[in-house]
Amino acid sequence: MFFNQLGFDYIDNSTYYSLQELEFDPLVQINNQADAINVYIVDIAPYKGRANGIGSQALVVKASNALGSTLPHEVGHCLNLLHTFQGTAANTSGCAEFIGEIYPNCKDCGDEVCDTPADDGNQNDNGYQPDLTNNMSYYDNRDHFTIGQELRMRDALAALSILQNVVGNSCGIVEGDTVTCSNLNTVLTLTNSTPPYYWEVINGSMEIIGSNTGNSVTIAALNSSISEQGAIEVSYGNGGLEHFNIWIGKPLALETGSIVGPDVVDTASIVAYHYESGEEEEDIGATTYEWWLPYPYNVVSPIDYYGDNWQVSVNLGIGISHVFTGYGENDGYIQVMAKNKCGLGGAKIMAVAHGNCTGPGCGGSAIVPPNPIPNSSNTSFSLDFTTYPVGTYYIYIYDINYNTVYSGATSNIEKTVETSSIPSGTYYLHIHDGNDIYTQQLIITH
Ligand SMILES: [Zn+2]
Repeated sequence: MFFNQLGFDYIDNSTYYSLQELEFDPLVQINNQADAINVYIVDIAPYKGRANGIGSQALVVKASNALGSTLPHEVGHCLNLLHTFQGTAANTSGCAEFIGEIYPNCKDCGDEVCDTPADDGNQNDNGYQPDLTNNMSYYDNRDHFTIGQELRMRDALAALSILQNVVGNSCGIVEGDTVTCSNLNTVLTLTNSTPPYYWEVINGSMEIIGSNTGNSVTIAALNSSISEQGAIEVSYGNGGLEHFNIWIGKPLALETGSIVGPDVVDTASIVAYHYESGEEEEDIGATTYEWWLPYPYNVVSPIDYYGDNWQVSVNLGIGISHVFTGYGENDGYIQVMAKNKCGLGGAKIMAVAHGNCTGPGCGGSAIVPPNPIPNSSNTSFSLDFTTYPVGTYYIYIYDINYNTVYSGATSNIEKTVETSSIPSGTYYLHIHDGNDIYTQQLIITH
């Protein structure tokens, strides 16, 4: 949220120079602009500031307080914020907020914002631990709103009728890649805006290459060893300002999360891995992730289910499913790294070994999965489980990108799988019997 200054004017008389209590209402009618929050600055008043109600578009502030925390406090009232001590301090309307974030009391009582602690107006007494620097308190040293207050202000801008004319519709929009590298420039463009333009690096080790006064700008990291969050701002038109976060360089190393998946695998089996409870992507500069398997491995489609190597068709994303462990019994490491267009961050690593698997599905399986027999019109195929043990068999068909195109279950009968709605092509048929997964290529033709 930001504010455009739409202009200012003067009230050319001395009536309101020293504002009296009853003069507030007539003052905020004078020259009131319906499409703005009108700030009336007077020299003398019975208060530091006063808003024209909770949810309003006018306020009065005393000149000596206009550059301090009184102005954001009153603007907060205009945008529907209550005092942090509302309902809780003596002689205030509403209901008292309990100490601690107790839903729905924190939503319905006090200031109706849950991330501002209960405040009885007396600092830390009787167990209260109010936010002593909150803009909507009456304490000194006020300097911030909370996220909850910001969301309530946004809701007010979206919903309160008196604020609908106040909301601007002419904000510029910065478009471009959110990552920049030292060897790969990034171009940002500002649309829905008017000149003059002025682009500026606000933080981070990056530079503007060429002009910074056009409606687009080229930026690059200062060198290839930087991995950090940066920001750029562009001012435009009559007071417009846009802030754009941009990641500089490769992602940071993965540290806080862990790889979830088997560290002992069966030979020639299908396994899955994913990275869990890790960093937020925007905090480390990741746009995706890259996985490496025990060497030698292949990223290949289709998977060769008779091959020795570890194989997977797609090794990007927060997880990889349908990893084939191969017949070669290659022990090694599963590794995952955050990735962006500048490269890879440091890896999270998990050692993986092949177990002493001897049962079905470990390669050279004792049980041969049923062969799919297409019907004469190629609209279905049958799988004959009648010679198999009693149990439930799960059937999946995946396309070459591992999207599921069919799933079903059957007992040990002859099962018919309809394929008329599946386009002709190459697929993978997986049959699970609860312990093992049998896989084979499946050609569907119509
Ligand atoms: Zn107030």
